[in-house]
Amino acid sequence: MLLKHTSADIKERNALTVNPAKTCQPIGAMYAALGIHGCLPHSHGSQGCYAYHRSTLTRHFKEPVMAATSAFTEGASVFGGQANLLQAIDNIFNVYHPEVIAVHTTCLSETIGDDIPQIVSKAAADGKIPSGKYVFHANTPSYVGSHVSGYANMTKAMVDYFSQKNGRQRHVINLIPGFVEPSDMAEMKRLVMLMGVQSIMFPDTSKVLNGPLTGKFNMFPEGGTTIAQLQATGESGGTIALGEICAGAAARALDAKCKVPCQVLNLPIGLHDTDIFIDTLRHMSGINVPEEIDLERGQLVDAISDWHQYLYGKRVALVGDPDQLLALSRFLVAVDMQPVYIVTGSPAGKKYTAELQTITAEVPDEVKIKVPGDMLLLHQWIKHEPVDLIMGNTYCKYIARDEDIPLLRFGFPILDRLGHSYFSCMGYRGGLRLVEKMLDALLDRKDRDSSEIEFELVM
Ligand code: SF4
Repeated sequence: MLLKHTSADIKERNALTVNPAKTCQPIGAMYAALGIHGCLPHSHGSQGCYAYHRSTLTRHFKEPVMAATSAFTEGASVFGGQANLLQAIDNIFNVYHPEVIAVHTTCLSETIGDDIPQIVSKAAADGKIPSGKYVFHANTPSYVGSHVSGYANMTKAMVDYFSQKNGRQRHVINLIPGFVEPSDMAEMKRLVMLMGVQSIMFPDTSKVLNGPLTGKFNMFPEGGTTIAQLQATGESGGTIALGEICAGAAARALDAKCKVPCQVLNLPIGLHDTDIFIDTLRHMSGINVPEEIDLERGQLVDAISDWHQYLYGKRVALVGDPDQLLALSRFLVAVDMQPVYIVTGSPAGKKYTAELQTITAEVPDEVKIKVPGDMLLLHQWIKHEPVDLIMGNTYCKYIARDEDIPLLRFGFPILDRLGHSYFSCMGYRGGLRLVEKMLDALLDRKDRDSSEIEFELVM
């Protein structure tokens, strides 16, 4: 029992988080920055923070994550990190030649109060930023928010720094994905392409963090949104933001800055939210939905109806990021499963919790929701009344093992399995994959636990 000290006795806790269901802001900022082509993320703080951010992303994606640091020591911690950042900008452009440096702050530099725009202006005035190259920044103090807010802040910074309004290209639609996998971003782009719609996705980590092994090291992989594309987002006919918490702020900033109207939708996980995504694309572009997308939708509906009996009534515990949990809960309810415990470590507000309550209102069993909450509480709930399935990141494996419950790995980080970078869980095909994974987990357990009389060859 790895979590043998977890007792079923639930005590009210306000000042203590145990086994948090989140990670720190700069990790999200670093991930978003990697979605710009030729970008080197830069962590303005100590080397320890930077090593943690890089290693978490590297372990999740199994790709080398390139970034730089201001490498604060005692001096910078007391007198501020201006000298470090100026030196870093100079070194980075001279040694690594990125197109752009994306600076994010850390707890330490935020506490000192370093003024990044002022330091970047000084770097420009001192001639440390070569012509045609850029440095931009996002504030990501990790004593508030989580990796999700870091992602949102860096994505909004892309709008604040780069989006320009020089004309109008009404046929182009901006797509802002939330904190999702490179495979999910690729799937969203594939659906948009099938619709025949021209789009700019930002950030876009497909082909950056799920690229091929070529035998040749490329510090700046082929993928990512180019600076020219980021600048052109201000000219697009509309924006679709996928996930209120991660993508909403950037979409609204673009509307305010360049008058690009936006629609903020849920992530396209499962049938209902993918329908809304496709329908919004149809409305915005005035293009009919092609047969290929109808076919994919029909296949998902077919799989759900064929296998519904094994999903029906199953109690599920969910841990993850707010935007993902919202769409995932809706999908589970739609296939008659019961998301009975829902926990995210990221603060998301009362409106968000109310939305989750509305989605799960028809679930027959009692539904417990904690925003923000931690995995200790989730474990305690499970001890009181178990579930049939846990869906969440790798850290859930301790609870799954101790309580002997199947675990479907979903969300961030996944440190011990393959697949998330390459196979999407978004769109109709992704929905099909989710159904397959849920059935695999549930039916493997059924096979394991069935008596010889109940053991079935054909399901
Ligand atoms: S929580 Fe703050 S101090 Fe810790 S790694 Fe993140 S930025 Fe650094």
